[in-house]
Parts: sequence; C-alpha cells; structure tokens
Amino acid sequence: MEVRQIPVRQVKGVGPKKAEDLLLLGIETAEDLLEYYPFRYEDYSLKDLSQVKDGERVTVEGTVYGMPALQMYGRKKSRLSCKVVVDRFVVTAVWFNQGYLKERLVPGETIVLTGKWDGRRLQITVAECEFPGREGAARTDTLQPVYSIAGPITQSWLRKTIAQALETYGPSLPETLPPGLLAKHGLMPRGEAIRILHQPTDAAEGKRARKRIAYEELFLFQLKMQAYRALSRSKSDGVALPVDHPAVRAFVRSLPFTLTGAQKKVIAELLEDLKQPHAMNRLLQGDVGAGKTVVAAVCLFAVVKAGYQGALMVPTEILAEQHKRSLEKLFAPYGIQVALLTGSLTDRKRREILDALQMGLIDVVVGTHALIQEDVFFRSLGLVITDEQHRFGVNQRAILRRKGLHPDVLMMTATPIPRTLAITAFGDMDVSTLDELPKGRKPIKTYCVPHTMLERVLGFIRREVAAGRQAYVICPLIEESDKLDVQNAIDVHAQLTHHFPDLKVGLLHGRLPNAEKEELMRAFSENQLQVLVSTTVIEVGVDVPNASLMIIYDAVRFGLSQLHQLRGRVGRGEHQSYCVLIADPKNEISKERMRVMTETNDGFEIARRDLELRGPGEFFGTRQSGVPEFKVADMVSDFELLEQAREDAAELVSRPDFWTAAEWLPLRDYLQKEQVFQGAPFD
Ligand code: ADP
Ligand code: MG
Repeated sequence: MEVRQIPVRQVKGVGPKKAEDLLLLGIETAEDLLEYYPFRYEDYSLKDLSQVKDGERVTVEGTVYGMPALQMYGRKKSRLSCKVVVDRFVVTAVWFNQGYLKERLVPGETIVLTGKWDGRRLQITVAECEFPGREGAARTDTLQPVYSIAGPITQSWLRKTIAQALETYGPSLPETLPPGLLAKHGLMPRGEAIRILHQPTDAAEGKRARKRIAYEELFLFQLKMQAYRALSRSKSDGVALPVDHPAVRAFVRSLPFTLTGAQKKVIAELLEDLKQPHAMNRLLQGDVGAGKTVVAAVCLFAVVKAGYQGALMVPTEILAEQHKRSLEKLFAPYGIQVALLTGSLTDRKRREILDALQMGLIDVVVGTHALIQEDVFFRSLGLVITDEQHRFGVNQRAILRRKGLHPDVLMMTATPIPRTLAITAFGDMDVSTLDELPKGRKPIKTYCVPHTMLERVLGFIRREVAAGRQAYVICPLIEESDKLDVQNAIDVHAQLTHHFPDLKVGLLHGRLPNAEKEELMRAFSENQLQVLVSTTVIEVGVDVPNASLMIIYDAVRFGLSQLHQLRGRVGRGEHQSYCVLIADPKNEISKERMRVMTETNDGFEIARRDLELRGPGEFFGTRQSGVPEFKVADMVSDFELLEQAREDAAELVSRPDFWTAAEWLPLRDYLQKEQVFQGAPFD
C-alpha cells in the first residue's frame, strides 16, 4: 500500500484515541503525518556561556553543585533553585512550579539544562532538563523540531511519533518530481527532504530540504494551472465570434475621448481572443482610473455586432446601475438594448427581463451575481465580463456550462495584483495590462493628518466646493460590523449637515433601499449633492469625475489596496484632486501604510507593498481568492522559485509527448486526481 493510503492508526504508537486526536491537526494518513512539518526548530546544541546573549535560550551541560532549595508560594506555586557548575561559571538554575524535581537533583551528577539565560545574575530559567547519567545521552548537538499542536497532542509525543513514522515509512515515500527537474535544480529526493525537515543536523541542510519541498509545491500547483490553460486552449467549445472591425472602429471614433495607447493595445488583444474558437479566459488588470470600463464597452459592442449577447457582472448594485447608465449612453445610437438585473428587482420586472433575455431582445445585461443564477437563460451568450471582482469561479462557470454555454470570460480586477499573486491565483489565465492613465490626469495629492485637524479638513471641503468641486467623506470602518459602520456614517452625516447648513450633504450606505441608493448616486453625479458621506460601499468602480476631494476617517483601519481603491474615486477628471487620510497611526505597520499612501500613486507599487505587509492570505480580503495554501512555500519570499516552477511547468505541458509518454504518467495521474480534466483547477 502507498504511504498516502495508510491510515495513521497503523503507525506505531498511534492508537484509536490518538488517531482521533490527530484529526484535529488534519492528519489522517501516514503521509499526512510525515508532511506535518515543524514550523521552527529549537537549537539544543551546547553553547559556550560567555558567547550567549542575555535573554537567549540556551542548552548547557554542567554538574549539580550544592543542595537544591525549594520555596513555596501559596499551595500551587513554587520556585526551585540549585547551583550548577557550567565550564568556569557557577550558575543558578531555577525551576518554577516543578518542586518534584528537588529529589532528583543529586550533587555531583551531570545535568543538561535548556532555558533562558540571564547573564547579569548568572541564572538560567529552566524549561527542560535531562540527566544523561540516568537517562542515556541527551539530544544535544541537534535541532529539535517544534510542531504546532492542538488538543491533547503533546509536543514530545508528536516528535516521537513522527520520528517513528519516518523510520517505518520514510524509505518508501514516493518521488513526485521528474528526475530531469531534480537534476536541473540540484534538488534532493523527496524522502530525504522530508526526513531532513523533521530532523535537520544544521540550518544549511534544513534550508536545502525546505527548498526542495517548496519547489515541489509550487511546481505541482503551476502544473495544474498550466495544464488547465493548455487544455482549455486546445478545446474548440467556445464561440468564434465574427468581429466586425470597421463597425468597432466607428464605435471607437464615436467615444467622447481618444483611447490611450494601452487601451488600444488591450482592445486588440481582446478582439483577437473573441475570434478564437476556444473560450477566452483573460484577466485585465490596470490601475484605478486607467479606463477599464470603456475597454469592456468596446468588447461588448463587438460581441453584440457579431450577433451575441454580453453580460457585465459587478460586485455592488451601485456599480451595476452606474455601468448600465454609461453603457446605455454609449450604445443608444446603435440601437443596442441594455438591461439591469439585480437582486432587488420586483418579481414582475425580473420576469420581464428574464423573458427578454431568453428571446434575445436584450443585448447587454448588467448586474450583480443575480445574473448567473440557475433560472437566467440567454438566447446566445457570447461574453461574460466581471468588473472589480477578484474571481469568476468554477461554480459560476459550471452553472453556465450546465446551460450549454461556453462564453468568453474577461475578468477586470479591482486593483493591480502583484505578479507573484497574479501567476498563482490567476496562473491559468492570459493577462492583459492597462499600464497607462488617460492623458491630462494630475497625480492626486495625498495628506495624512491627525484627528485634531478636523476643523482644517472641513475648511478644505468648503474651499473645494466653492471652486465647484465635490467631496466624498468615507466613514470609519468597524471590522465585521456593517451595523456600526452605518451608525458611524449617520453620525458623520449629522455633523457635516450641521457644519455646512448651506450645502447639500448626502448619506450613502449599504442598508438603504436600492432606489434610494440609485437616486443618491445620480444626484451626486449631477452635482446636486456637494458632499457624499458614505461607508465603503463606494469603494469600487464609482465614477464621478467632478469629485476632487476624498476624505477618509480613521484611515489606519483600511488596508493599502482598499485605500488606493477609495482614493481612486477622485482624480478621474482634469481637476487637481486631493485625498486626506485622517489618522493617528500608533504602530509601525500603520505608519508605514500611511507613508506609502502619501508617497506614491502607483497602484502596482502599492499592491506590492500591501502584499509584503499583509501576506497573500489577506491580500484579497475575505473574497474568494484562489490563492492556494502551501505547507512550506511562501509566495512572497519564494518568488524566484515560483517563477522557476512556473516556467518549468509551462515548458513541460507544451511538450507534445507530455500527454502520451510513459515518463510523464505519474504527473498525468496527479492531474487526473486533481480533476484538471473536468474543470478549473482552483476554488
Ligand atoms: P477604472 O479602470 O478604474 O475602472 P474607469 O473605466 O471608471 O476606470 O475610467 C475612469 C475615468 O476615465 C472615466 O471617467 C472614464 O470616462 C475616463 N476615461 C477612460 N478612458 C479615457 C481616455 N482614453 N481618455 C480620457 N478619459 C478616459
Ligand atoms: Mg472600474
């Protein structure tokens, strides 16, 4: 039987009770146990006390000298101390609440102590002690693994059990990487790497073992992504849309502005994709304000001209309404029908739209997730675009497939994604980048001010409004509490209404009825409201070019990417725009975040810093991220290894014999097991 299939209770020392406890750690099989790697090591090698820094953890060997003394504090607490000679020092060893050890301390006996060193008092606070004379040689000179434990599992039991499992099953651990790749990168065999990760003799060896396993994780993941990409490109189940280039060119000329070079380049890439017989699977990323919406509009236009329907999916109803309005304006001269489909339509209205969609009376539908529900049918869906969402997952695709649809898919991201995340979370996709802002944009000036300067900030609002501009005021964010967020917004709104009796101040939050939200946004975009107080519901996508001032209360509560997104609501027209972060950063990370915001407007740079500060898990927030969890690999620090693994995987799947030769059978089996042949390899 393969190690992967052996239940953990067959490992020596694991009974039915322990097997159950191990489930808490996610360990079911012998292989799970072997792959339960330590998160750090403790250094038990003997040290020369004169070299040890104060407060450091040490292991020393010495001789018990003098009689132990025990002091009791109350019934449970005690302090045991004893002199121990270590080299030329007489050291005081101290144990807390381990009075029972007193009897075991015999003058003249050798003792090995591990604990915290206090160089001033020549004292060691003992965490562990061993008596080599009685118990056999102590495990000095080694690094001991430290595992994360839970429930009734103890550190020492787990160490012993894993060591046992290594002895029994270690030699039969199968290799997962092709010999060619091992040789190319000088990687050790898998079994050896796993053993060393648990029992390294020194840091250098541990590092090499870690690299081997990290590479394996990254490579296998990239192999999935690349295989999926290759497979979907070889399929011809998409629709090859006949793009009417002259009509598209005429549409582009009718736009109220000339496209940037980047927009033109990206549109050409997208139109080329639409013409291919396989389904498009593409990511469009660009900085806030780079003009993604119009790119989407051109694609939708091409799709409709080719006789198909298009869908534009967005995360919020506010954004859906805004996109519907702007598409309607652009498409009206061409007789293209645009409809809105969101969760808050009346049943009757919804029914009407569903019927029209099915009959093909609607060409372009804009909506939230309500768009891709089981009961929504299209006559001929050619393209799905998602805007400002991070993922159009396998579930949504599956729903479409069940209806016999294989539309082209274009995802437009909310913010730039650092390359390391892009090639992991979106590794199966083609990527287009809008790396140029429309001409004439002035960089937004960003300031960070303490709460005590609120008066001056209000003066700033007054000045901008007097100049004909408008302002957003974003309220403090309360983690996990939409309700408190709303309360904050209500309070701030009351304050501002009081402060600016002559101005129209609007209040926007997620709990308002839809019609009211829509009315507010319309009023703001027509400058009937000068100030809009809002929760983060306007975080993504909202586009009112006359707004030039963004005030963010309690800015330290927001992540960098979110702040950049919010700031991106201004600076969308020709006016000089400003962002004021009201914050009193207390810790280094908050200070760093505020510094980054005031120093740069570059979304790609901000994304990179955000990833460094928060790590990959947090980067995408709570939304479905598609970022895999690795046991050993770290996407940020193992960036070079990741690039390497991706290159190797892409090269491998592009070999014609990869899909047939016996040599690659284990990897094909792996892909089979990961269900790459059924659908997307993620989520
Ligand atoms: P984002 O990429 O953040 O979604 P939008 O699509 O909302 O950006 O565009 C931001 C603003 O820039 C909008 O007001 C849009 O009309 C305008 N815009 C887009 N492309 C151009 C262009 N080529 N020239 C001038 N303005 C443009
Ligand atoms: Mg947008």
